Amino acid sequence: TESSRVINFGAGPSALPDSVLEEATKGLLNFDNTGIGIAEISHRSPEFTSYLSTVEALIRSQLSVPSTHSILFTQGGGTAQFSAVVLNLLARHWLLFPDLKDEQRGLDYVLTGTWSKSAHQEGLRLAGRHQVNVAADGRIYSKDSKSFDIIPPHESFKFSENPALIYYCENETVNGVQFKHDTESVGSEGKHIEGTFPFHLLPQGTLVPLVGDYSSSFMSRPIPRLADHAVIYAGAQKNIGPAGLTILIVRNDCIVDVDAAAALGAQPVPLTMAYKTLADGKSVYNTPPMLSIYISGLVLKRNAELGGVQYYEAVNRRKMQKVYDALREGEEKGLFRGHVQHGSESWMNVVFVILGDGKEKAFLKGAEERGMTGIKGHRSVGGIRVSLYNAVTEEQTDKLVAYMREFIASQ
Ligand code: PLP
Repeated sequence: TESSRVINFGAGPSALPDSVLEEATKGLLNFDNTGIGIAEISHRSPEFTSYLSTVEALIRSQLSVPSTHSILFTQGGGTAQFSAVVLNLLARHWLLFPDLKDEQRGLDYVLTGTWSKSAHQEGLRLAGRHQVNVAADGRIYSKDSKSFDIIPPHESFKFSENPALIYYCENETVNGVQFKHDTESVGSEGKHIEGTFPFHLLPQGTLVPLVGDYSSSFMSRPIPRLADHAVIYAGAQKNIGPAGLTILIVRNDCIVDVDAAAALGAQPVPLTMAYKTLADGKSVYNTPPMLSIYISGLVLKRNAELGGVQYYEAVNRRKMQKVYDALREGEEKGLFRGHVQHGSESWMNVVFVILGDGKEKAFLKGAEERGMTGIKGHRSVGGIRVSLYNAVTEEQTDKLVAYMREFIASQ
């Protein structure tokens, strides 16, 4: 029940709604009146394949995914996609432009934090003879010129002429840095809004190979310019369900015959990483993570009842504002210090430090005593990180904010 469960502000795997977990226990015993549990039934049973189609339809309608894009399910998390996007999009590039020289097939990375940096490192490993470029780097504009604490200014973005891949991470879970999501990205004065992704600077002409890592913000609010992306991906374990499931939205021109590309000179692509395998196999080429898909489906059905991403956008905006307001009050008292520069703050992961000897420890201890957990910062950056994913309610957020104010007043 609600009272026996702690409030989980963890960064992932993270909280799931109580009502969904209660429903899930029924499916564990008896999935869709088959008399067989979801962890036991065949992934090729009509009941499961029909459920999978429902999950796909729920994502398609909640994010308004156009028919130009396929929704695919796989495993391996965001980390496997660091590799898969490189291999699939290089294969596409070889098929589109077979006669280019290796150095004319650039991979462009936008660096805004730990996760885009990891993806960039994997790009360097897999690129072989191809060119890997940094299209923008937030560290150049950071307060200490080495941390990731800002979305770099539009003027600093430099994309290659004909890249095979343009990569960014929409929300940096560790650093608490997120792109603004103003759908049009153009303000009332007709100027592009700083902190948004500079869609207007992308190379023109062909379909742009734009890849967005949405692991920690998927389904928390609408995705701006979704149709302009080649690939959007997310692990389920933050906003959607248990770990094990990776959701992909792939533009159909990026689902290519990787073997035909390899015959031209591209690297061979492992079968389970090729988007074509997933698409041709309707995401059941091999055994999928069924329990994770099942629970994710329950979460998505509940989302639909509540009002979809529009509902979550409104709630998540209020939650985020309340926490940042309390953070600012602590900053004025010289007690808290936010990690991220104004304008680049994440809605999902609020990162800050508590100044003064032993005070961080005291804050963490007090939170645990009040039934709140998961707020210790990532081991690489330390401090405090409050994750406000969809399953964290406004009431739970209010409890944390009240505790932050109580802590400020006690100092
Ligand atoms: N990208 C982002 C933004 C993440 O937050 C994470 C994990 O937290 C990853 C990628 C890696 O995901 P996974 O652990 O599912 O491989």
